[in-house]
Amino acid sequence: MQTNAAVSPTIDRKFLNLTVDSLPLRPAWTEIDLGRLRRNVQLIRRELAPGVRLLAVVKDEAYGHGALDVARIALEEGAWGCALSNLEEAMALRAAGITAPLLLLGERQEAELAWCVAHDLTVCVNTPHTVRALARLAREFEKCVPVHVKINTGMSRYGVRWDEALPLLEQVEAEKCLRLEGVLTHFAQSEEPDKAFAELQFARFQAVLHARAARNLAIPLRHVCNSGAVLELPHTHLDMVRPGLLLYGVLPSATCRPLPGLEPVMSVKAKIAAIQSLKPGEIAGYGMRFTAVTPRRLAVLPVGYGDGYPRVSNTGVVLIHGRRAPLVGSVAMDALMVDITDIPQAQMWDEAVLMGRQGTEAITVREIATLKNSVSYDVLTNWRLRLRRQAVNGEALLKHPQALGASEL
Ligand SMILES: *Cc1c(COP(=O)(O)O)cnc(C)c1O
Repeated sequence: MQTNAAVSPTIDRKFLNLTVDSLPLRPAWTEIDLGRLRRNVQLIRRELAPGVRLLAVVKDEAYGHGALDVARIALEEGAWGCALSNLEEAMALRAAGITAPLLLLGERQEAELAWCVAHDLTVCVNTPHTVRALARLAREFEKCVPVHVKINTGMSRYGVRWDEALPLLEQVEAEKCLRLEGVLTHFAQSEEPDKAFAELQFARFQAVLHARAARNLAIPLRHVCNSGAVLELPHTHLDMVRPGLLLYGVLPSATCRPLPGLEPVMSVKAKIAAIQSLKPGEIAGYGMRFTAVTPRRLAVLPVGYGDGYPRVSNTGVVLIHGRRAPLVGSVAMDALMVDITDIPQAQMWDEAVLMGRQGTEAITVREIATLKNSVSYDVLTNWRLRLRRQAVNGEALLKHPQALGASEL
């Protein structure tokens, strides 16, 4: 059927398509290497004793990598389930067909609980009120609902205090339609050389568990480890570990034990969109922050702070032809400039790497974190979606679709 009589039959109808995915890729994008992700998951699992489960932390779109792809690969590689921060994130995975356990970290509003029960999202309960509300819903839905109790052992964020945790555990167990599946805590500092506070937190957690053990009521999933603890505190792995950052191939600190073979999953790339030749005395960019002392050749990359690059001036580098090209002037919303005087072969639309590897050189996530005086987590999650995500090396995806479902506990 002819839907637009004005269009000549010689024009390819794909140009009429309005969906973003059908447009040519903007010359600035993030690349997500799903092959590396898969390998990272395998390497992490090798660190774990047999029987220790993996809960893949995929909150905030898997730290900017795309939660659905990451969840699929982690589950295919044997993860028990995924952890998320909020209801929207979990529902997006359910809507996409993920049936594995999804654990919501943090605290739920009462109004959210019905959706959690309806869609089998596991919640952390931190208060008696939530236990009662969840139990009431479980009865209404005629379900036996698994819950995890979060214990605050000193981080003072979410959870019931360690020295007040026993009554909450007992309250959960007293509710027939609730099943105390897990108990967890979270380290305030596990990635720095000084482990004293982490050990204190772990001792408080263990004290609660020992009090339970005395009553012969074991809890199947005890879990405390984030990435730092997966690497540095193996005696705290218990029944399950919860790495986030490590899945993405990034270490939580400079002092953390490296995991050989682990590689960053995300790269940020752009193509040269203009080349300018400056004569001595000429300036570049907003605020006139850069003046050429000698003749300079600059490349303009169509990516800026509006894409998540830190708004810096005359600091930072990108890779072009495997060489480090220093950033000059101030980063703008949609553009930044780099000095390519020493890379004469650089031409229009050549590829530049803003984060990641090119040839033998690399710009690490931590290097960019230093530019913005922050941490790697912040860098990964702050690239914006106007940089379209290009997944690569994902061929092996969904070899075993049955791996997306719940595993036996
Ligand atoms: C984010 C988060 C994690 C994962 O932390 P990483 O340092 O990225 O491994 C684990 N547990 C909880 C409760 C979290 O909020």
